[in-house]
Amino acid sequence: MSGRPTPHVIVVGGGVIGCACAFELARRGAAVTLFERDELAAGASGRNHGLLLAPLDPVLVPMAQASTRLYEEIEEGSPLPLGLDPSPIGFLVVAAEEDEADAARAEAEAAASSGVRIESLTAGEMRKLEPALAPGVAAGWLLDDGRRLDPAALTVALALLARDKGAVVRRHATVRALLREGNSVRGVVSDEGAVSSDAVVIAAGPWSGGLLRPVGVDLPITGSRGWLVHLAQPERLLTRLVNRAGWHIVGEESGVSRPSADEVARQYPEPDLGTLLQPNRDASLLVGGSRQPVVTSEPEDPSVPRRILEAAIELLPALSASAVISAWWGIRPTTPDGRPVIGQVRDGLFVATGHGGQGVILGGGTAQLVASIVLGEKAPFDPMPFDPARFVGVR
Ligand SMILES: Cc1cc2nc3c(=O)[nH]c(=O)nc-3n(C[C@H](O)[C@H](O)[C@H](O)COP(=O)(O)OP(=O)(O)OC[C@H]3O[C@@H](n4cnc5c(N)ncnc54)[C@H](O)[C@@H]3O)c2cc1C
Repeated sequence: MSGRPTPHVIVVGGGVIGCACAFELARRGAAVTLFERDELAAGASGRNHGLLLAPLDPVLVPMAQASTRLYEEIEEGSPLPLGLDPSPIGFLVVAAEEDEADAARAEAEAAASSGVRIESLTAGEMRKLEPALAPGVAAGWLLDDGRRLDPAALTVALALLARDKGAVVRRHATVRALLREGNSVRGVVSDEGAVSSDAVVIAAGPWSGGLLRPVGVDLPITGSRGWLVHLAQPERLLTRLVNRAGWHIVGEESGVSRPSADEVARQYPEPDLGTLLQPNRDASLLVGGSRQPVVTSEPEDPSVPRRILEAAIELLPALSASAVISAWWGIRPTTPDGRPVIGQVRDGLFVATGHGGQGVILGGGTAQLVASIVLGEKAPFDPMPFDPARFVGVR
């Protein structure tokens, strides 16, 4: 699209990916219209840990680094405080039992291959760092990783900064369909009518597939529900992030697949449960997590927060006295290979989704890649691993 003075680009979805794309496109001179059917950050973008961790898949590292640089760049002039830690607060990978030691090592080594400093700890050393951990905890690794930010604030800030650059942000405006002209896409149809554009970027998270399928693009994007529980601690129990081995690494490599009708006819698929404890600056604690294929719009299994707490108390017994502030869930957009799908799928149609549990980690870099593809500029890093053409439904 280079050579056209002001291309009009429609971005569908006001999550972190859509808002980052709107910002990056607007600041490069495109006329942008962002459509969000709800409030900004209404999806997983406003309902997650907000952790910046080094991706365990090295292919994602340049995208993650570009994202962190973007967040650091916008932080000072941000209309909302992002709450970005200036440096990592530390990430402990804990083998709660002897047989989790291999999983802990695998996770630490994967982080090391993405450039993170790691240190092996004995049970004694670990309990010296975090004395509230259960006495039975076997051993672990300290990773020099983990910066926190407020993910809803980041998402809204990106949209407001995009607006400062001329973008039009339309909330409570659902995109119902894509405007087609032969095999090309020339805009969208919302409840307010048709709006034409030079390009449409679908960043509608787990709902992206529903917009793409009618134009013959069938990408394997599924939804993975994840719960978080927010606790008020009687006293500060942790200073670092604590993750029970096996949770962070398993499942990030492969997305949650759609369950079969037969499976669902018998029973909803069981959630995959893990423990990730996140101390917040205000002394509250955020506890995750779970992964479960989404079947119904409301939770399939309301017992998940209870089971998350049960596992968390096992790792951090003093947690049992904490008051529960609330629990909520978000839906991660996942792909079978755990990598996002970013690129052109039709003339005039682009996609940016499938970030799984890493949409904040990867959002800024995604937006830079999207803007370069849509505007015909040089890609900031190798786009090939994210090419939608790796899935058969793109023809
Ligand atoms: C429990 C949990 C913890 C997580 N922790 C982290 C973390 O620590 N770090 C990290 O990087 N990631 C984390 N994630 C993942 C992260 O939340 C997601 O990867 C990210 O939010 C995806 O962003 P998105 O913009 O693609 O999707 P969404 O946030 O879902 O945004 C898509 C938007 O599109 C809108 N939309 C859908 N259809 C339409 C339509 N037809 N018209 C208009 N608008 C539409 C939706 O309303 C929604 O607002 C976590 C996720 C969960 C669930």
